[in-house]
Amino acid sequence: MNQPFSRRFSFTLRAVALVSTIFSLAGKVAAQEAAQAPLGFEEYDPVSTLKVEEHVVKRARFPFIDIHNHQPRMPTQDLKELLSQMDALNMAIMVNLSGRGFTQNWDESTEHLKASITNARKTNGSRLVIFTNLVFNDFGAKDWSQRAVKQLEEDVKAGAKGLKIYKSLGFSGIKDEKGNRVAVNDKRLDPVWAKCGELGIPVLIHTADVASFWDPLDRYNERWLELKTHPGRKRGPNDPVPFDSLIAEQHDIFRKHPKTTFVNAHMGWYPNNLKKLDSLMEAFPNMVVEIGAVIAELGRQPRTAHQFFVKHQDRILFGKDSWVPSEYTTYFRVLETEDEYFPYHKKYHAFWRMYGLGLPDEVLKKVYYKNALRIVPGLDKSLFPD
Ligand SMILES: [Zn+2]
Repeated sequence: MNQPFSRRFSFTLRAVALVSTIFSLAGKVAAQEAAQAPLGFEEYDPVSTLKVEEHVVKRARFPFIDIHNHQPRMPTQDLKELLSQMDALNMAIMVNLSGRGFTQNWDESTEHLKASITNARKTNGSRLVIFTNLVFNDFGAKDWSQRAVKQLEEDVKAGAKGLKIYKSLGFSGIKDEKGNRVAVNDKRLDPVWAKCGELGIPVLIHTADVASFWDPLDRYNERWLELKTHPGRKRGPNDPVPFDSLIAEQHDIFRKHPKTTFVNAHMGWYPNNLKKLDSLMEAFPNMVVEIGAVIAELGRQPRTAHQFFVKHQDRILFGKDSWVPSEYTTYFRVLETEDEYFPYHKKYHAFWRMYGLGLPDEVLKKVYYKNALRIVPGLDKSLFPD
């Protein structure tokens, strides 16, 4: 009585085994096929299996100054909300570099600057600091330099604590009266740089872009993804001049104005060549650098970057550039921890992972606030520890 049942049962078992073998074979074939199929760089997003200690830093270890921020709506913005976002990060002072907003009309932008300062003071004038900008609208007019210098004096009197130069200077966005590109070292700008030295205010200057933007857009370009997603950033080899020429124009003004302090934005676009940057630090004692938008370069060379930060600890400032509060954690983690192989927040800047520099507290304090307190006049020192 049992026999037919057990025979039937064993037949069923064998059938199940066969079917599952077929499925598992099919599964293997599918997996093999998937492994053979091309997988685009943009889709590839492996989950790291590395298990190491993690120290996610949402708040900086010390109060800090962000020397490179943009708040273009400052005249009308609810600045209390901004202050509470800053508090969460331990940002004691934010420097808004867009004091004149984004209009190129002289009077309108002066109004914008004054209204920004008024609104900042109404909320918290010591934590919200503003730099002014130049108006290039009628550059090349006979009295432009004179007018710019006079305006600068007035802006500083009104409360601006520095001058920010956008990268549009040197690119084709700014033209003179003849329609020509204005070089960064155009002589007509000399009185402005000299005046900043006289007034004791720093010039934070952004010149050029990542050198890769001038390189061919092919599989060898490290910024391939950025150029694919932001095609407007791609430049021909001489558009408007080669990278090296633009950078040389910038260095020329550092050389010509030794009494003016220049804050070279984005580490002067040499965060990926710290040996070169080291030689520039040597050549231009009046140049300091800030680290806005280049933390991914530092986080891929923790030992070299650590050495650089220790050597030049008095001349590196904290900056971030784009105002995305959640991204600051990458900066804090790279600077403060010795974590390994942790993610960066934008694949188009870095498809590689980060390693912490583990900077000593004394160096961190200088980068976070002491250097900025020395360079930017009239900041409130009481917001920081010794
Ligand atoms: Zn900027």
